[in-house]
Amino acid sequence: MLGPPGAGKGTQAKIVAEKFDLAHISTGDIFRDNIKRKTELGKQVVAIVDAGGLVPDELTVALVKDRLQKDDCKNGAVLDGFPRTADQADALTELLAELGSEIAIVPYIKVRDSEVVERLSGRRTDKQTGKIYHLKYNPPPQGADLEHRKDDQEDTIRDRLEEYHNKTAPLIAYYEQKGLLQEIDGEEQIDVVSATVLRKVEATRA
Ligand code: ADP
Ligand code: ADP
Repeated sequence: MLGPPGAGKGTQAKIVAEKFDLAHISTGDIFRDNIKRKTELGKQVVAIVDAGGLVPDELTVALVKDRLQKDDCKNGAVLDGFPRTADQADALTELLAELGSEIAIVPYIKVRDSEVVERLSGRRTDKQTGKIYHLKYNPPPQGADLEHRKDDQEDTIRDRLEEYHNKTAPLIAYYEQKGLLQEIDGEEQIDVVSATVLRKVEATRA
């Protein structure tokens, strides 16, 4: 899943993973979990994640390499928030070749910067289930135990967008060239976006 922060990658990745029985791998979730548990990895990355920067490629790639070899990835995986740099993308191609696998599709969920701020300011995550809500666009149930991510504040959102445009957006052309990119209008409603994403993923499996 490619796209700016707040495009709906996590929301759509969960739907695709469930539908096709794939593992859902969110590097952001893995980093946040490690930060919460105060692991060695968590301590290494907390300042970077809180500031909206990118964790070094070497660390991130090693983590994904490990994760992709777990049992639940046998049937495939949806990568959400990885790769985010050209070096990560090259490393992923190599890694998948080693594992005898390859990328089937790169759904690029396109959303304007102005919409990103609106989306992330209103994003709330259920602390127990990890479900992603939006105060206005996808309201959480009454009584849910919600978290507002520290990096979802306007200043940090601006920094994350800058990182995205500088380091991640070049991957759009990179995957286009490989014939893997499928651009999707991420500004439609969640169910409209997921219908399109599911249809495009389905087409690669026929
Ligand atoms: P990402 O993983 O790309 O950062 P998320 O899936 O976490 O994005 O979505 C960011 C926020 O926008 C969440 O609050 C989510 O509920 C909301 N959202 C996701 N997709 C849509 C959509 N198509 N329309 C409106 N809001 C959306
Ligand atoms: P969003 O989709 O809202 O941008 P993520 O949950 O994917 O947020 O990522 C949160 C943070 O975790 C990023 O801002 C970055 O600090 C770190 N991170 C996640 N994935 C990567 C990656 N592939 N490379 C480097 N840093 C990452």
